Parts: sequence; C-alpha cells; structure tokens
Amino acid sequence: MKEQDVLRRFLFEDLGVRGEWIKLTASWQTAKQHQQGPQNAQMQLGQALAAVVMLSATVKYNGSMILQAQGDGDFKTLVAQSTHDRKIRGLIRCNDHIPVGSLETQFGQGRLVLTIEPDDAQPYQGIVPLQGRNLATVLQTYFEQSEQLKTRLWLFANETHSAGLLIQELPSQNSYKTDWERIEILADTVTEQELLELDCEPLLYRLFNEEKVRLFEAELVEFQCACSRQRIERTLRALGREELEDILQERGNIQVGCEFCSKQYLFDRVDVETLLSRDTLANQS
Ligand SMILES: [Zn+2]
Repeated sequence: MKEQDVLRRFLFEDLGVRGEWIKLTASWQTAKQHQQGPQNAQMQLGQALAAVVMLSATVKYNGSMILQAQGDGDFKTLVAQSTHDRKIRGLIRCNDHIPVGSLETQFGQGRLVLTIEPDDAQPYQGIVPLQGRNLATVLQTYFEQSEQLKTRLWLFANETHSAGLLIQELPSQNSYKTDWERIEILADTVTEQELLELDCEPLLYRLFNEEKVRLFEAELVEFQCACSRQRIERTLRALGREELEDILQERGNIQVGCEFCSKQYLFDRVDVETLLSRDTLANQS
C-alpha cells in the first residue's frame, strides 16, 4: 500500500544524525484547492507545507509553526502552517504570472520568517533573507544561522504529491564530520522522482542501505483549518464600530472569507451589533 499523508522520523543510530521523510497527498490537494495562482507558485506552497511539518517535528512544543515568505516581487506572500499534531494549512498571494528562477526572481527583496507559537508561551521568531535557489536552501541557511545545527532538506511537489526529506544533526550530540558528510552525500543522491513516488522504507533502503537506520511509526498529516466565527469576530471588533458601520451601509452585511479554506462567514447588522456590544461589556468588566 502506498504511504500517503504521513511523516516518518528516523535515526542513524550511533551517528548523532536524525532524519525525516514526508509524503503529502490528500492534505496537499485540499490545501491547494483553496489557492489561486500560477502552477509554480502552487508548487512552492507544496514544498513549504512539506517543510513546515518536518521542521515542526524537530521541535518539542504544543502549538503551531508558521513558515512565511514575503517579498516585493510577483510572489507577495507564502504561508505554510503546521500544528504539533500535524494539521496543515497554507496560502499564497501572488500575481497571475511568476517568473521561473531563484527565490529573488520570484519574491524580489524578501524575507523568510519562521515562527513558533506555543499554546502556553510567547512566540519565538527567526528571520533570514529570502535568498537562494529554492526554499530548501534558504531553510538550510536559517538553521545554520539561528540554530547552528547542520541541516539539509530536499523538497519536491507536483499536482498530486508533495514530498520532503530532511537530515539534521542531533542538537545534544554533534555528529563526527565524516559521518555527517557521508550521510549528506548519500541523501543528496535522492531524485525528485524517488521522493515523489517511493514509500519511506524503499527510499531509505535505496539511499542508506549500508547504514544502521531506526525508523519510527508513521504520523498522520491532515489538512485542517483553524478558522472560526469567534476568530473572525475578534478581527472585526478590532476594526471598530465606524468601519463596520461603513461596510454595512455600503453592502447591507459583512462577508468574510477564510483565505486558507475558503469558508465564508456572514455577519448582518444584528450580528455586528451583538459583537460590538459584547466588546463594550468586556471593556467594562
Ligand atoms: Zn479557514
């Protein structure tokens, strides 16, 4: 049976190197279905989703991790999010045509921001310039600069699948240079076709058959949007009475669509009065 929508972690026992493999199918297709944009922008989203799940699995936390790329080029914004329990969503904002080429060609001057939002602590954020051949290279730079951990990623996406491979030095136990280099060279022989088509075990066997690899149980990944009427209400309240009255005057009601999942939220005059009066009550107490 083909492995789909799963993350698998593995460990090179005795070497101080860990790895992850991911294959997204239904979750990727659902995330993509809600996004407008040219094919090459969509494929960047696929890679970003595979990446953010793998990266979030390298950290112990409860909450969500957000990978955001922003620039002043044709590609404006790319967001990929994963929770600690592997629920993903993402969005793109871009022009109808994105040139083929490096990240600078697509995003112009930009930056990549990686945010961890733990449920019970302050968010943590790391930022690197959006420079390099692709997302995998800029993420490698990120890890070298902010975490000082040797990390390599391979990311590929097509219409039906998005897949990734990651290897990383264990934080507590720096690997020997020669061990790391050997694993890196072996991993770097992976092809787009192998990553998109093979299941985890055959792929690891093909790449690392002479290494001792411990493979952990598959973890399920699914598309799930965290939007809710309550969250939209909070955003509307922040706009203030005057702004909301203007929209009501003009359109009769307020319709807000979620950019991640296309769900529509409708607020009529009574709804708006209710949410504003709740605001007043909250301020008084
Ligand atoms: Zn949503």
